[in-house]
Amino acid sequence: MRVVPNAAAAQLTRDRVALLGTQVDRVPRDAIDAWITAFIESGQPHQVVTANLDFIAVARKRPPFAKVIAEAALVVCDGKPLQWAARLQGSPIPARVTGMDLVLHAAKLSAARGYRLFLLGAAPGVAERAALELLKLFPSCEIAGTYSPPKGEFSPAENARMVEMVRAARTDALFVALGAPKQDEWIKAHLEELQVPLCAGIGGVFNFLAGETRRAPVWMQQAGFEWAFRLTQEPSRLWRRYLINDLPIFFELFMGQLANRSAGTTPRPVAAAPLDTEVLAALELMDRPRSGIVQATTPLRRFGAQRVRARRRSLGSAGRIRRPVLVRAALRSPSRVS
Ligand code: UDP
Repeated sequence: MRVVPNAAAAQLTRDRVALLGTQVDRVPRDAIDAWITAFIESGQPHQVVTANLDFIAVARKRPPFAKVIAEAALVVCDGKPLQWAARLQGSPIPARVTGMDLVLHAAKLSAARGYRLFLLGAAPGVAERAALELLKLFPSCEIAGTYSPPKGEFSPAENARMVEMVRAARTDALFVALGAPKQDEWIKAHLEELQVPLCAGIGGVFNFLAGETRRAPVWMQQAGFEWAFRLTQEPSRLWRRYLINDLPIFFELFMGQLANRSAGTTPRPVAAAPLDTEVLAALELMDRPRSGIVQATTPLRRFGAQRVRARRRSLGSAGRIRRPVLVRAALRSPSRVS
């Protein structure tokens, strides 16, 4: 059953801060529901972007991606460093709103109001398992469909098939997990054909929901170290992104903001809202070990374990050996293994 958008939704206005040329919306946590409701109830297609430092790095080198972000209906702040930079600039962003936040809030609203959600992307079977997890967290949530497309560049026939599938599912929200910039550029290219009121690229969210990859502990997310946790999970894929692409942007962003700060910019006040109680409960449930789901062992840990086993074999069972330096430094774990 549909409800008339509430007064808060009707009064939403964008309030943005420019970070190295990328405009990011200052969205308070307690406005997430209102934005989702407003987009869905409008019936018109909208694109939401979940921006982080990497988005800024890619946008600077790739004008079509910069255009996607500039023309999005909403650009939420998915990365802690963007929040730090905005604060230094004097326009603090009240909350980090991640892809996971968008999906969980949409699932909660779906359970309450019957909004339909479509999950598109990730490896075969992952979107489907993510949908099952959402149904465990919000049992009345409406899943309009799931689809994991083939890897690599999509052929025109595959694009047409996906658009048709989503249209036929008559979904209210479409979450796309193809990694950035692919997911966001795909949404932009098909937004008018899809005619879905809320389309958002959400990166690795289905993997987290399905238990394929573990999300960083809350304290790491809050301290701005989620990237480091993800790096230990998928080092071969992510080292280039974080260390080569994003680190220089981090320094450029912060040097610029520090200069502004010393020029005397005073931060505007910012209201911080607590996490939504239902979403908080869902996050806590997801944090617990889940039966039936094999939590992926990190490649770095596997690599460390193999090295330790190999050295143990060469030293004999009585030998006490040290963990390889690389693994010890990365995991910050005790230095002796018996
Ligand atoms: N992915 C995909 N097809 C592709 C590239 C990526 O389905 O061609 C999926 C991948 O399996 C993962 C998701 O996109 O589930 C998010 O990728 P990534 O981790 O790069 O996103 P991030 O969260 O880092 O933005």
